[in-house]
Amino acid sequence: MPSNNRLMTFLYHEVCDNPEESGFVTKNSLQYTHTIAEFEEHLSAIAASETVVKDFNEKCDLDKISITFDDGGISALCSAEMLEKYGWRGHYFIATKYIGQKGFLSSADISDLRKRGHYIGSHSHSHPKSCRDLSFEALKYEWENSKKILEDILSEDVFTASIPNGQYSGRTLNVLKSSGYSHVFTSMPTVKPWNEKGLVMYGRFYPKRNTSRVKIEKLSRFEGVYFEYLLRKLKQTLKLKFKG
Ligand SMILES: [Zn+2]
Repeated sequence: MPSNNRLMTFLYHEVCDNPEESGFVTKNSLQYTHTIAEFEEHLSAIAASETVVKDFNEKCDLDKISITFDDGGISALCSAEMLEKYGWRGHYFIATKYIGQKGFLSSADISDLRKRGHYIGSHSHSHPKSCRDLSFEALKYEWENSKKILEDILSEDVFTASIPNGQYSGRTLNVLKSSGYSHVFTSMPTVKPWNEKGLVMYGRFYPKRNTSRVKIEKLSRFEGVYFEYLLRKLKQTLKLKFKG
């Protein structure tokens, strides 16, 4: 395998057999909810790639895989346990407004996940539909408030963020930087981290409910990556065309 510091980051949301019980429940979100059996199949596909899941921040010359989860739904307790069976740790991004609400992790759960070695980052405070549309003040509130809430729970610096719905502008990144974040996860399917506005940026691949084991296995070997990128770009272009 080529050694050029690529990072395959998977983005998951909820892992549960009853999709009504965890996280945000919308028609759109349900296509990203995986049953326990489906997620186990994905994990075994990742394991088959023989790429070791490592600390995303660890300095090494190997390709790495990182498994992230957005929103902070209660099913994180299940996915974390499943990852632990493989000796892996997940990166959980929390929309802090929902902490302790029905279907979401409590402060104690978040603290416990961190103690078990999982990583915790911010997914904004209120999970706005698009950070692109927010004013500077609103963005500041979202990211500063969320960081503070997580740091109060964890008693440590929180420096990673994932952007809700992947929608951001240069202003979003400026606010993330000034709020003290240094690593930002997007929804663009790429494997080479890049620098933007003084932040280290990461792309992510988000398997859907019906994404096959074969595809996960291929992506875990860093195959088909460019195709996914082109597909996303094409979808974005078509969306813009229909909008405007
Ligand atoms: Zn989200």
